[in-house]
Amino acid sequence: MGDMQGTTYPCGECQAGVLSLRYVTYVTWLGGEMITVPNFPAWVCDMCGRREYDTRAISWLDTLLSPHAGRSTQPRRGRSRPHDGSAPSSRPSTTE
Ligand SMILES: [Zn+2]
Repeated sequence: MGDMQGTTYPCGECQAGVLSLRYVTYVTWLGGEMITVPNFPAWVCDMCGRREYDTRAISWLDTLLSPHAGRSTQPRRGRSRPHDGSAPSSRPSTTE
């Protein structure tokens, strides 16, 4: 990752403070479920407290929380399911 530590940006909200990188607990809602992400990088103004989240971290989180990606909680059933008996391992398990 880059060398963002120690970098500051002028705050666009109060024009007086600066945004510096902090690690906060990011809270979002997903389908009525509250998701908390600890140690999430955010740019926080030292004057007005405005938070701007790192765009790359947000996109990473979006990918993580996307219902179409990263959803591997479904139990695999391909192993203990007898097909016809003649082909015991038609699908080699290369993921392990
Ligand atoms: Zn500010």
